[in-house]
Amino acid sequence: MIETKDVHKSFGTLEVLKGIDLRIDKGEVVSIVGPSGAGKTTLLQILGTLSRPTSGEVMIDGTPVQMLSDKQISKFRNTKIGFVFQFHHLLPEFTAMENVCIPGYIARRDRTDVERQARELLEMLGMEHRTEHKPAELSGGEQQRVAIARALINSPAVLLADEPSGNLDTKNKEEIHKLFFTLRDTLGQTVVIVTHDEQLARMSDREIMMVDGWIRP
Ligand code: ADP
Repeated sequence: MIETKDVHKSFGTLEVLKGIDLRIDKGEVVSIVGPSGAGKTTLLQILGTLSRPTSGEVMIDGTPVQMLSDKQISKFRNTKIGFVFQFHHLLPEFTAMENVCIPGYIARRDRTDVERQARELLEMLGMEHRTEHKPAELSGGEQQRVAIARALINSPAVLLADEPSGNLDTKNKEEIHKLFFTLRDTLGQTVVIVTHDEQLARMSDREIMMVDGWIRP
């Protein structure tokens, strides 16, 4: 589902990624761990096509991303990649249901289809009783579930999560962690998570340790 070859990334004279070779199969839940400044977020942004590598190749779901123009890349990203961040960035004036549906409407999909899928996702994430609530009426864990449903509404090839439980208490953290495995088991979802949480990393199908711009073998 994801393959990178000799990916380098520099910011000015600072080389942050020093040759990343990576292969992630469909339906794998992979954690990227390592000390602060190792390049984890930079790598995740490259996998998510939010940032282009300085050199190297990135293949996502069979598409060599480096061959795409900026316009093609943004369309590719909207349909193939789902993002979850530490802070959920839900729109406060919209309900949970509406927040989940918006990326589907933006992709100009059939509204009934989007709404049916949103309901199914919210149900899978244990949020069927909260669909008409606005973000402020939801707990932190519930808000994050809505953000995950929103990330999945266009059936992305990969779900990328950057510290998805960084802002949650222990109980909510564990529940959100379990959900990634539910998504793998029910949807065959490929998930890549940058995390400092050792428990989540250990639960994952694979742990990738980054140190100073490299993947530690
Ligand atoms: P991690 O996620 O492992 O903590 P990051 O990928 O966020 O590491 O950052 C790796 C290094 O790259 C850090 O030294 C950071 O300061 C630097 N860096 C990240 N993004 C930028 C940027 N846009 N411009 C300049 N330096 C950056």
